[in-house]
Amino acid sequence: MNIGLIGLGNMGGRIAKRLMERGHQLCVYDVNSDLLEDFRTLGAKTTDSLPDLARSCYYVMTVLPNADVVKSVVLEKEGLITGMEPGNVLIDITSSVPDVTTEVGESLDQRGIRMLDAPVSGGLKRAEEGELAVMAGGDEKTFSEVLPLLNDIGSNITHVGELGAGHTIKVLNNLVSATTFAITAEALSIGIKKGLSPSKMLEVINHSTGRNNSSENKFPQHVLTRKFDVGFAMDLMCKDLTIATDIIRNEKMPAFVSDTVYQLWQYAQSKSEKGADHSVYAKLIEEMSGLEIKD
Ligand code: NAD
Repeated sequence: MNIGLIGLGNMGGRIAKRLMERGHQLCVYDVNSDLLEDFRTLGAKTTDSLPDLARSCYYVMTVLPNADVVKSVVLEKEGLITGMEPGNVLIDITSSVPDVTTEVGESLDQRGIRMLDAPVSGGLKRAEEGELAVMAGGDEKTFSEVLPLLNDIGSNITHVGELGAGHTIKVLNNLVSATTFAITAEALSIGIKKGLSPSKMLEVINHSTGRNNSSENKFPQHVLTRKFDVGFAMDLMCKDLTIATDIIRNEKMPAFVSDTVYQLWQYAQSKSEKGADHSVYAKLIEEMSGLEIKD
C-alpha cells in the first residue's frame, strides 16, 4: 500500500526511511527540494503536488514543524484535502496544537476523511530503529486499523483518547523533558563549582533517583562532548512549551514550575543562534555560572 509522507526533516526523514526499510512504498513531499531529491534516489516516489500525493495514498503522514504548517498543508486550496478520498486516513505526527488538530479533523470529517494525531517521542536514534514512543488520539477503530503501520515506526504505541489527545500528552511530555534538562544543567554546574567531575556526577545520578533522559543521554553524548547535536531544535522545544503553557493557562491550572521553565527556555531561545539545537540551553547556564559543563 502506498503511504504518503510530508516533511522529510530530522524526524520525518528518519520515519520515512524506516517505513521504506519495512517494505512500504512511499510517496513523499517537502518544500526542501534537496531532501526530495535524496528520497527520489532512495527509491521513494516524489511529487510537488499535495493533491496528487493524496490521491495516490490511502494513509498520509505529516511530520511538520508546527500546527500552522499542518493546517495549510491539509486545508489550503492546493492542500491534501482536495485529493484525499473518503475513508482515507491522515496521521499527524507533528507535535501540534490540540485545538488546531480538532479543527483540521472536523474539516476532513465533513468529507468522510479520517484523522489520527500520532506524535512521537524518543529522538533520532530511536526513530532510525523504529523504537519511538507513539501517543495516538482519535477514533479507536481507526487507531486499531493503523496500529500495524505505527508498529513499524514505534515500539511503544498508546491510544490516549480522542483526536488531539496525543498532541496534548506530547507537549506535556516535552514540558517534563525541558524541566529535567534545565535542572540537570543547574545541578551539574553547581557540582562543578564544588570541584566535582561532570561525568562522575552523571554516573551517580544515573544510578540514583535523579536519573532522566537528559542525564542518561543528552548530557553525556551531546553536552559534555561539546557537540550540541541532539537533532531537536531549540525553536521546536520552545514551540512545545508555548503549547503546553497555553493549555495550562486555558485550564486555569497551577503553573509554578511550568511558567518558570517556559521563561527560562524562551530566554535561552532569545540568546541562541537561528536553527540552534535545543541542547545549547546548557550554554546559557554555563555563561551565567562562568564555567563549562565538560570534563
Ligand atoms: P525539521 O525542521 O528537521 O523538519 C521539518 C521539515 O518540514 C523540513 O524538512 C521542512 O522543509 C519541512 N516543511 C516545512 N514546511 C513545509 C511545508 N509547507 N510543506 C512541506 N514540508 C515542509 O523538524 P523535525 O525535527 O523533523 O520535527 C518535525 C516535527 O516532529 C515537529 O513538530 C517536532 O516538534 C516533532 N518532533 C521532533 C523530534 C526530534 O527529535 N527532532 C522528536 C519528536 C517530535
